[in-house]
Amino acid sequence: MSAGLTESVSLHNGVKMPLFGLGVYKATEGGEVERAVKTALDVGYRSIDTAAFYDNERGVGQAIRETDIPREDVFITTKVWNTDQGYEGTLRAFEESKKRLAVDYVDLYLIHWPVPGKYKETWKALETLYSEQKVRAIGVSNFQIHHLDDLLASCKVKPMVNQIELHPKLTQKKLFAYCQKHQIQVEAWSPLMRGNFFEHQTLVTLAEKYNKTVAQIILRWDIEQKIVTIPKSVNAHRIEENAQVFDFELTEQEVKDISALNEHLRLGPDPDNFNF
Ligand code: NAD
Repeated sequence: MSAGLTESVSLHNGVKMPLFGLGVYKATEGGEVERAVKTALDVGYRSIDTAAFYDNERGVGQAIRETDIPREDVFITTKVWNTDQGYEGTLRAFEESKKRLAVDYVDLYLIHWPVPGKYKETWKALETLYSEQKVRAIGVSNFQIHHLDDLLASCKVKPMVNQIELHPKLTQKKLFAYCQKHQIQVEAWSPLMRGNFFEHQTLVTLAEKYNKTVAQIILRWDIEQKIVTIPKSVNAHRIEENAQVFDFELTEQEVKDISALNEHLRLGPDPDNFNF
């Protein structure tokens, strides 16, 4: 087990969130997701990122229960989907997610996308869930600066996390700085650019220097910046490989060199032009 897998960041309410976790988007409900989560937990992962939309919460919960790792040692994130947003819809959706996961509480509950005209009501529901201690932390995903400005102007509880697309081709510098200023922890989705652009010379050279893979170099770049990262894989070998990033360090200059690969390139949808 890699020691660094228990390294964590403190959210602004004091809750500790592992810096590293497993993403399970597109891992099929049932055997596939259960095997991936069990492999990850065996390797030492202690954080799993799912969502109602991924349709695999049952398998995630099942896999966690089937290990002998205490529930409080695993950090579970799930998210409310767009069509359920609004106050009552979100409370209902949360209960359904909780039932599918079969847990007493969720560690982090996120608004999956900023649905215009709805996300503020959705946030109020998250505040209710937080005050009732059904969730240990609440946050958002895919929120741009203007969404956060809007939310921060009226919320009672500030989001603890913003989970956004972030990788060497999309460094989100301004949004990252904004979140840091407001103590909102940034979490990277598609950290591995879904497996694309691995042949880039800067990354290949660093991989050779440290005797690591390009995937490991990118994940280390996240960790050096204290960005929570959740690479996805259902392949046991890759789940293990992705976790081997706590036995080397990149220099400040190398972190900058990787950040310089930014092209503002989105692989996923643009939150301002999403087909809600
Ligand atoms: P990712 O960047 O983690 O890429 C995953 C893909 O990269 C794998 O399917 C595999 O093809 C490849 N890969 C994984 N490990 C590799 C390795 N060691 N070497 C070579 N290739 C490798 O992409 P993702 O799944 O889109 O994002 C990660 C997680 O982020 C998701 O599973 C999900 O939990 C979350 N996510 C959230 C949102 C959101 O809107 N909040 C959107 C997308 C993803």
